[in-house]
Amino acid sequence: MMLQTTVFAAARSRAHGPTVALWHAVELHRPPAEVDGACELTLCGSLARVSTDESWPVAATDVCPACALLSTC
Ligand SMILES: [Zn+2]
Repeated sequence: MMLQTTVFAAARSRAHGPTVALWHAVELHRPPAEVDGACELTLCGSLARVSTDESWPVAATDVCPACALLSTC
């Protein structure tokens, strides 16, 4: 039996107007090497650049609360 595990990558959004840069979670459907540096749709619906230097959950305080919540479901 195959266990279905969802893998998340950490992605960094850019500061945009009043919105600060945050770490978001991106669901990985491709090998991490293929999405490194790519702009992907995050769990909360924004676009962020995937950074495979970091793994989700990131050990940072500036984490998107929506992504943190959605990735635990
Ligand atoms: Zn987010």
